[in-house]
Amino acid sequence: MKEIKQAERRVALTPAGAQELVALGSDVLVEAGAGVGSGFSDDAYKVVGAQVVPAAEDVWQQSELLLKVKEPIEQEYPLIHADLTLFTYLHLAPDRAQTEAIVNSGATAIAYETVETADGHLPLLAPMSEIAGRLAAHAGAYFLQSPLGGPGVLMGGVTGVAPARILVIGGGVVGTGATRIALGNEGEVTILERSLERLHDLDQYFGSRARILMSDAIILEQELREADVVIGAVLVPGAVAPHLVTREMLGVMRPRSVIVDVAIDQGGCFETSHPTTHADPVFEVDGVLHYCVANMPGAVPVTATRALTNATLPYIRRLASVGVDAALAEDPGFARGLNVKDGEITYAPVAEAFAEGP
Ligand code: NAD
Repeated sequence: MKEIKQAERRVALTPAGAQELVALGSDVLVEAGAGVGSGFSDDAYKVVGAQVVPAAEDVWQQSELLLKVKEPIEQEYPLIHADLTLFTYLHLAPDRAQTEAIVNSGATAIAYETVETADGHLPLLAPMSEIAGRLAAHAGAYFLQSPLGGPGVLMGGVTGVAPARILVIGGGVVGTGATRIALGNEGEVTILERSLERLHDLDQYFGSRARILMSDAIILEQELREADVVIGAVLVPGAVAPHLVTREMLGVMRPRSVIVDVAIDQGGCFETSHPTTHADPVFEVDGVLHYCVANMPGAVPVTATRALTNATLPYIRRLASVGVDAALAEDPGFARGLNVKDGEITYAPVAEAFAEGP
């Protein structure tokens, strides 16, 4: 179905994905125009056997399994119903209103971002994190320009002039993608990461091309002083992001330096962050520019929709073939995706975020 969040042009399923579900015997309903922003016409879905329906309400009402990209937003809350299984990015922990809407509806909600593999990776967050990480380095380079509010530093420097310093907090999928592109732009990159195992992987991957350091409060403050761009990429799965950088700490940062808080979808890792949109992506606090777009991959829907379907389709196929309960029972990692069922929050970090409610 068509996403109605501002500037969101991704869609949850490619025509190739729809074709696989039709082959399994499922009836696939697609809202008219849903794929257009990702380069897929209604006809592309029709030719593979999907049914294109004119109104979003029809898709909501007639579906048992609803595939989306972004979490339902306020206008969609009344459409969530008890017979529905919602499979989408939800990011419930920082979003009380949405959590209440789903809990009160009685729907089953499986969050892409908390599904795990057997070894604890997040296979449905990873493709979007890969994209957001790469875009974060682009955003940092772009907003370093003085007419856009930045300090007027070229990320890669030039002959005889030093490059920008990029600090990446959190060396997971986002952090790795950001580092890769920032290094490609010839910036000087430092990564702070708190998992020793992950530090080891980063060291193997980047070697001496990046400074790779254990994250602690003292190092963080030291590194903030030197950075032109700070990319926030930490994650405690399912939970609200920790505010690692307080408002007071902005005071040590370089004037007009740029924060890109990719973790904003989980509440952000800078105390001063609040979500922004592609139409109005930045704001300034204490002389530091903040870029906090909560759906960064929405800017590159042609790439992102394909990457998303590549990751979600194996799970969707299981849901379509054996049903929700059996699909979750046969794969404990998939079951970690279950956030709400029968009016109860079933995912501990979300329940903890709403300990008094919701
Ligand atoms: P990930 O799990 O791959 O990586 C997160 C890393 O942060 C882990 O390696 C973890 O050890 C590290 N970490 C946790 N606490 C830390 C600390 N105190 N200091 C340093 N490192 C710490 O997660 P990811 O896929 O890279 O996602 C990162 C964030 O980006 C998540 O909040 C995710 O939801 C968000 N994200 C946002 C967008 C967007 O459009 N804004 C898109 C995709 C992902």
